[in-house]
Amino acid sequence: MTFSKLGLCEPILKAVLEQGYTAPTPIQAKVIPEILAGRSVVASAQTGTGKTAGFVLPILERLKGERKRRAKRMRALIIEPTRELAVQVQESIRQYARHLDVVSMAMFGGVDTEQQKQQLIEGVDILVATPGRLLDMIHQRALHFDELEILVLDEADRMLDMGFIGDINKIIERLPEQRQNLLLSATMSDDVRRLADTNIENAVEISLENDWASAPKITQWLVTVDKHNKSALLSHLISEHQWTQALVFIRTKHGAAKLASQLVKRGINAEAIHSDRSQANRSKILAEFKSGELPILIGTGIAARGIDIDNLERVVNYDLPDDADDYIHRIGRTGRAGASGEAVSLVSNDDFKRLCAIESRLGQLIGRRDNEAFKAVKEVPISILDFVKKSARESTGRRSTDGNKPGNPWLKNRK
Ligand code: AMP
Repeated sequence: MTFSKLGLCEPILKAVLEQGYTAPTPIQAKVIPEILAGRSVVASAQTGTGKTAGFVLPILERLKGERKRRAKRMRALIIEPTRELAVQVQESIRQYARHLDVVSMAMFGGVDTEQQKQQLIEGVDILVATPGRLLDMIHQRALHFDELEILVLDEADRMLDMGFIGDINKIIERLPEQRQNLLLSATMSDDVRRLADTNIENAVEISLENDWASAPKITQWLVTVDKHNKSALLSHLISEHQWTQALVFIRTKHGAAKLASQLVKRGINAEAIHSDRSQANRSKILAEFKSGELPILIGTGIAARGIDIDNLERVVNYDLPDDADDYIHRIGRTGRAGASGEAVSLVSNDDFKRLCAIESRLGQLIGRRDNEAFKAVKEVPISILDFVKKSARESTGRRSTDGNKPGNPWLKNRK
C-alpha cells in the first residue's frame, strides 16, 4: 500500500514524503479512505500508530482548495484533552499542510485569550482546541460553528478520564447536526462507547485490536525496591545504563519537584514539568527534552500525558499508576512508529495491588531485574494474574476489555 493509492493530492503526498513516511501505517490505510468518502468513523487506535496523520491527511484533502475564510468560523474542529496534545496536533497539521492553503490554530487555556480571539477573527480552517478554553470562547461569542463540517474527538478515553464529558456535551450541542464525526480512542471502554453511540450516527467502526504489527515494540522490566530508596535507585540506573533520555512519571507535583532537585544534586540533569509551572516554562522544558538537551524529564501523569516525542527511548514509572489503562498509555509514549522503546518501573511493596492490576491487564508478569545493592527489605510478592479491582467488579461486574487483551504481544517482556 502506498499513500498515492489512498487518493490524496500531490501537495499532501509531497508533505508526507518530506516527513519521511514511505507507506501508510495500518490505521492510516483503514481510516483514510473512510474519511475521504465522508463517513463518520469510530476508531480504536493507540497513540504511536500514526493515528494523527490518519485523520489529519484526509481532512486536509477534504478542505483543500480556495475558499474565503470567514471570521470566527472554522470548517474542522479537533478537540484534544491537553494543551500539549493540542499544540502537537496543530504542529502536525502545519507540517502536512505546508504545500496547501489551509490555516490551522491551536487554542488552549493558561494563556491570554486576546491573541487567540484575534487569530479567530483573521480566519482559520482547522481549530485544534482543549474543551475548557473552547467553551470559554463560545461563551464569549468568539466562535461560531455554522460552517463546521468535521468534528474530531481525539483521545476520547483520556478526555473522559479527565472529566471533560460535561464540557464535550455542551460543545456538541452547539454544533450543526449535519457534520462528519471522527472519534479516536486508545481504549473502547463502556463510557467511550456511550459517547460514540449518543453523538455519532452511522459510524464505521475501525479497530486495530488484532493488528499488532502497527503497534509499538516495548521492552518492559521492573525493579523491586523499598520506597525510600527509589530516588537513589533511579540515579543509579541513570548513571549505570547511561540513559540519555527518560520520561519519569511520578504521583505528585511536590514529588516531581523534589525528585528533580535530588537528581540535580547527584549531578544528573533533570527537570520537573507540572501544572504549577507557567506555560512558557513548560514549553521551554519540553523543547529541551525533545531536542535531547535535557535527558531526564519528570512529570505527574497529567502533565506528561500529552507528550509526543519521536523515538522517545524510555519511560520510567517512578510510581505505578492507579489505573492499569494509564500504565498502557504511559508506556505507549515510547516505541513509536516502528521504533523500539523501554518501559521501566520502580515497584515497592505498597505498589503491589497496582502491580497486580497492571500485570493482570497485560495478561503476563513483567520481568524483574532486581539490583542487589537496592534489595527490597519489604518484598514485593509475585502477582496474582486474575486480579480484578474491587471497584471494577462492583461497577461493571466484569473486567474492562479493549485492544490490549491479556497476552497482547506488542508488550514484549524481557524476563
Ligand atoms: P501518532 O500515533 O499520531 O502519535 O504518531 C506517532 C508517530 O508516527 C509520529 O511521530 C508520526 O510522525 C509518525 N508517523 C505517522 N505516520 C507515519 C508513517 N506513515 N510512517 C512513519 N511514521 C509515521
